[in-house]
Formats: sequence, C-alpha cells, structure tokens
Amino acid sequence: MSSSSSSGRAAALRDVVGSAPLLPKSPIAAPTSAYFGINTFGARQMRDKLPKAVYEKLVASVRLGTKLDLEIAPTVAQVIKDWATSRNVTHFSHWFQPQTGLTAEKHDAFLTFDDDRQPMESFSGAQLIQSEPDASSFPSGGLRATWEARGYTAWNPASPVFIVESGGVRTLCIPSVFIGYNGEALDEMTPLLRSSDVLSAKAIELLALLGDKDAQRVYTTLGPEQEYFLIDRGFFALRPDLVMSGRTLLGAPPPRGQQLEDHYFAGIPERIQACIAEVEHELYKLGVPIVTRHNEVAPSQFEMAPMFEETDIAVDHNQLVMATLRKVALRHGLQALLHEKPFAGINGSGKHCNWSMSVTSDRPEFDGTNLLKPGDTPHQNVRFLIFLAAVLQAVHRHAGLLRAGIASSGNEHRLGANEAPPAIISIFMGRTLTQVIESIAGGKTMGSAEQAMIKLGVAKLPDIAKDNTDRNRTSPFAFTGNKFEFRAVGSSASIAFPICLLNAGVAESLGELTAALKAELKKTKKVDDAVLKVVSPVFRATKDIRFEGNNYSDEWVKDAAHRGLPNLRRTPEALAQLLSRKSRDLLNGLGIFTKQELESRFHVRMERYVKDMLIEANTLREMVDTIVLPSAYAYAGALARAAADSKTAGIPAAPQVAAAAGLAKLLGAAQQRRASLVKAIEKAESMHDRMEDQAKFLTSACADAMQALRDECDALELTVGDQQWALPKYREMLFPA
Ligand code: ADP
Ligand code: MG
Repeated sequence: MSSSSSSGRAAALRDVVGSAPLLPKSPIAAPTSAYFGINTFGARQMRDKLPKAVYEKLVASVRLGTKLDLEIAPTVAQVIKDWATSRNVTHFSHWFQPQTGLTAEKHDAFLTFDDDRQPMESFSGAQLIQSEPDASSFPSGGLRATWEARGYTAWNPASPVFIVESGGVRTLCIPSVFIGYNGEALDEMTPLLRSSDVLSAKAIELLALLGDKDAQRVYTTLGPEQEYFLIDRGFFALRPDLVMSGRTLLGAPPPRGQQLEDHYFAGIPERIQACIAEVEHELYKLGVPIVTRHNEVAPSQFEMAPMFEETDIAVDHNQLVMATLRKVALRHGLQALLHEKPFAGINGSGKHCNWSMSVTSDRPEFDGTNLLKPGDTPHQNVRFLIFLAAVLQAVHRHAGLLRAGIASSGNEHRLGANEAPPAIISIFMGRTLTQVIESIAGGKTMGSAEQAMIKLGVAKLPDIAKDNTDRNRTSPFAFTGNKFEFRAVGSSASIAFPICLLNAGVAESLGELTAALKAELKKTKKVDDAVLKVVSPVFRATKDIRFEGNNYSDEWVKDAAHRGLPNLRRTPEALAQLLSRKSRDLLNGLGIFTKQELESRFHVRMERYVKDMLIEANTLREMVDTIVLPSAYAYAGALARAAADSKTAGIPAAPQVAAAAGLAKLLGAAQQRRASLVKAIEKAESMHDRMEDQAKFLTSACADAMQALRDECDALELTVGDQQWALPKYREMLFPA
C-alpha cells in the first residue's frame, strides 16, 4: 500500500511539472484596439448595416431600456445572421442567467432547407427575440411546478450579441432574460433590469425637482474587480474537495502563508502571465474591457478588473470573465479557483463591486454625469449630497437585505475571516466627507446652501476621489471618491442579485427624499437650501451605518451590536432577511419582485446552501475514509516495519515505537470525529423535508463536526510521512516549485 500511494504521489507531482506549456503557443501580435470587440455585434456595429429608421428604433430601445419593436426584429436578425455566418458561426443560442449563479445556453443550428430541399442558413426575427428552453430543469424555488415546464428567453438588446469560440466551434450567443409564461422572473437578470428601471424613474423625478430637467434615464454603473486563485491543474485533480466543492475541506496551514507580504503586486510568474494574457485576449475579442491585472495578497491569488460599464452589461461581462478564466486556465495546465475561500487560513477572494449612478441626457454637458461625483458648483455638490443621502439611508435601512444578497456557503467562510469585511454591513465615508455630513447633520449649516458649501470646504470635494481610494480596506461598503465599492460580494457570485437589491434600496430612498423635498419646497424657496434641510435629518438618522475604524476588530463587533446593526454570520440567518417585512415591502412595493418571486429567491438560495453543505460533508467523509485514514495506516505500517527492522538489526526501536503510539492516538481521535460527522450527516439527511431546520443544523452542528474532524486530519497531515500522504499540500498548491 505504501509503495502504491507513494508512487501515485510521485507520479502526480511529475505530471504536474511536465504537464503545462510554459509559454503561449503564439504570442499575441496585435495591439488590443485592433481586435477589441471583434466577436461582438451591438448597436454601433449595426449602424452601417441597418436601414436608418430601423437603426434608430434599435438605438432608442437600447438607450432608453425599452423593449425591441417587433416590426424591426426580422431586419435586425438578418443583419446579425449575415455577420455571424460570415464568421463561420453555425449555431445560435439564447444566453441567460438562471438562478444557478452561472449562465445557460441551448444551441440551435442556423441550418434549414428551402423549398427545393437545398441547405441554407436562416435566422428569423422570432428566433432572435425569443426562444423556449425547457424551464423544468432550472431552479425556480417553487415558482413553477416542474410539470409546467414552459418558460421563455427574450433578447435584451442593450447587451450586444457575441460569438463564443470553444473547441473549434463558433456559437452566436444572444444575451437574454428568462421568464415564465405568466411573466414571472426565473432568472437573475429580469429583476436587475426592473430595479434599474425603478431607480431611473425615481432619480429622474428627483433631478427634475432639483432643476436638472433633461435626464432621459439614470443608469447605474458597475466595475467589478474579480479576485481568483490559479493553481496547477494536476494538484486540483488530486483534491476531491476542490473538484466537488471548490474549496479545500482539510489541509494543514503551511509554515509560510502570506506573512511575508511578498505576493501583492509582485511580478506575475511567467506561466501565470501567459495564462492571464490569453484570458484577456479572449475577453477583448468579446468586448470585455479588462484594464487591470495584478497579484493579490495571498500566494497564487490574482485580480483582474474591467473599466466600469452600465450595470447589466457589466453583469454579463463578469459572467464571461469567470467562464473565460475557467476555460483558458485549463489550456495552461492551470485551474482557476473562484470560490470565496479555497484555502482556510489564507486570504479569500471577493468581487469588489464599484457602483455609481449616471445620467443619460441629450444635453451634452449633462450626459454621462456621475451623480456620486462631487462637482464644481454649490448646486452640483448639493445634488451630490442628496444622492449620497439616498445611499446612506438605503444601506442603513436594508443592511440585513444587502447581507442576504451576498449570502452563500462560500462567502460565509470569507466574511469576518479577519481579512475580509465582516458580515456586519457598514459604510466608510472618509474623513472629509464625514466632517461635511456631520456638520450638516448637526444643523450647523442652515441658511444659504451656497454659504454652507463654502464654509464646509465642499468646493474642494473633487479631491476626495484621490484621498479616499483604498483608505479603509476593511470596510464592506466604502465610498471611494466618486462611487461606492461594495466589497463584501463574493468572488464566485453572480452580481445581478446584490446589485438589484442595492438599486432597489436606493430607488426607495430617492422616492422618499423627493417627497420630503417637495414638502420642504413649500417652506423654503431655493431648491439648494431646501435640499440641505432635507438631508440633514437623514444624515442624523443614518449615523450608525457609518464606520471609519477597523472592521476586522473585536471592538467593532461589540460597537455594531450597540448600534443595533445586524451581524448575520451564517447563511440561513442572512437569507431569512429576504422575507422580512421590510424587505418584502421594499421589493414587492417597487414591483421588483412579486411575493412569489421573492419567496422563490429565498428557496433557491436556501436549497443551494443545503446542497453545498451536504456535498462538502459527504466529500470530507469520503476523503477521510479513502485518502486520509489509508495514508495514516500506510505510515503506521511503515513505522511498524521500521521498528521490526531495528529489532532484527539489534538497534533500539524506541523512537519508532513512540512515533507509532503517537500516531495511533491521533488516528483514534480522527476516527471518533469521523463517527460524529457520519452521525451528523445522517441526521441532516433525515431532515430533508424541513429545509430551514436542516440548513440551521448544517450551519451549526454539522459544520462544527466537519471542523473538528478537519483539525484531527490536519494534525495527521503534520505527522504522517510525506511519502505516504496522498493529498497535495497547501504549500505545494500555493507555492509552485
Ligand atoms: P480604486 O483604485 O479607487 O478602486 P479604480 O479607478 O482602480 O479605483 O477603479 C476600480 C474599479 O472601479 C474599476 O473597475 C473602475 O472602472 C471602477 N469605477 C471607476 N469609476 C466608476 C463609476 N463611476 N462607477 C462604477 N465603477 C467605477
Ligand atoms: Mg478598488
């Protein structure tokens, strides 16, 4: 046994070193701009191909976020088909985001036959606009009984169609929403689009009241910074836990972790560089504007960030980023790990979502205005302050809901792990703005807004952008000068849902502030002066959500409890927030989720959590039974043989005997913990008809049993001889030789 496991390990390590090409086959030989977006076809590309009237209708629906006019669909489809077939595309697919957190596609051929039975390519307007995938196999959280399998996907024309190249085949993907026949949202994108529409309507109303009248639409912008690990594919394949659950369920901490702080921003290793460059190359073809790449804090951890885009496009693009990372890494013998916490004790991965609100207007100087960017005039800064107040109020009121939006089995391990934001949602504003907010809250600036702005030094607000960047890396929700950075979002998450909830909360507050301003304008003549009167009580009432200190500290946990801020550490308690009165009032009230749709989100996420936990528990049990214990037995055998050999040779065998006795003790403890885990799994599985109780049990007793067993396994790993230990170790995976 020992010889086979050692040769297995040696062979695996050999494979690892020999498996990967070290450099890309053909270096990228063109400047990015020469091929950026070559595999996409959006409104701009259609300008040359479409009749003017058709093009204008299409652009209007893209720009204003309205549905595509059915009359123009056949012409648009024709143009798209010609483009796609000229690029040797054979199939098309509606590409959508079911509630799995991933994307889905079903391919249909362009191939058809004419009246003479001659083969030809065809693509109708109806095929572009709508398709009917069998909806029964996607999670719906009870929204639709599986026998009612009818659902359909509908093109979202704001997102360009694109060609995916895979395995030498090219497929046209049509970004779509996925809805049931009664219009119920079965996907992540539909509610996000609804939330964008609601936010836009509320923001336009407020802007009009402020005297900024020509806003046609207010859209949210999003720049998601994606963190991930890249490890050798050979190691990955040898870790059933990584393969099954995306994270290591056991593994002793290496003597060297990230304490030397030598990885962050260090040079990117050449093999990794080759992989990342190819990922970027693929993404550029798809029009994804990746502009930043660097090492992250943990060994083998990296980040890539795009230039921000309108939210729904950024959400689609982030899905492409994750899929492309996974796909291209394999070509380099690497595995991309997108889990929030692949290695316990080592920094986890997040997806910092930079978020703001911008204006669409025919007035050029207003078009593209970032509403969270302080301006040059007192009026612009007053406008900035009221939009800021809306965000503060939304996050304060809906902190629990925002936590629910980022709840998953993976993020549970990251939030509050002393290197990631805690599960407590708070806002960092930075010193300058804190002073401004507190002065206004304290009513010190009543009077003319113009004077107040000068007194507060708000004329200098644009400098905040520079000052605030990365000032507080511990905050889950930080203002960074001209945008908020929602840092608590998990690395593997679809960001549609958390951003939808944020949009909803802000939309609600914008509506309330508009009403308050209307009322105030009956007493106060000048709008800017009235705004200060309206935001003052909001700044006072939301004081508790602002926190400038160290979010990792124990004191903050206590302080936050005094403030009454929710600290929802486990996924089930976080998800319960989705169904709170406050959340339902918000989301049903604004028409972003119906009652049933919201309940379905709760069920889908809860069920997913239960499944993840059961997969992890069962994988751990199997690994212990088939890898960890056999490794320890092999080592025990080696010790026994060594002791016997010594005795035969007439050499005292005391050290070997002592080692064997120590090992036996560890083995005994591990077996005991194993038995407890098996019991916990049985109990959890027996609770299958009581999902909420089951989730609570899994997150407490079962998780504790897993941790206790892991501790024993990790002690064994540090005891068993390297020859016998059959699993790749943290140091091997994270510090490639
Ligand atoms: P920082 O260093 O403060 O994080 P960066 O300029 O590096 O700032 O931005 C990080 C991310 O934030 C990038 O993806 C960037 O495009 C995005 N970003 C910048 N401005 C905005 C904005 N107005 N709305 C949304 N995202 C933005
Ligand atoms: Mg940043």
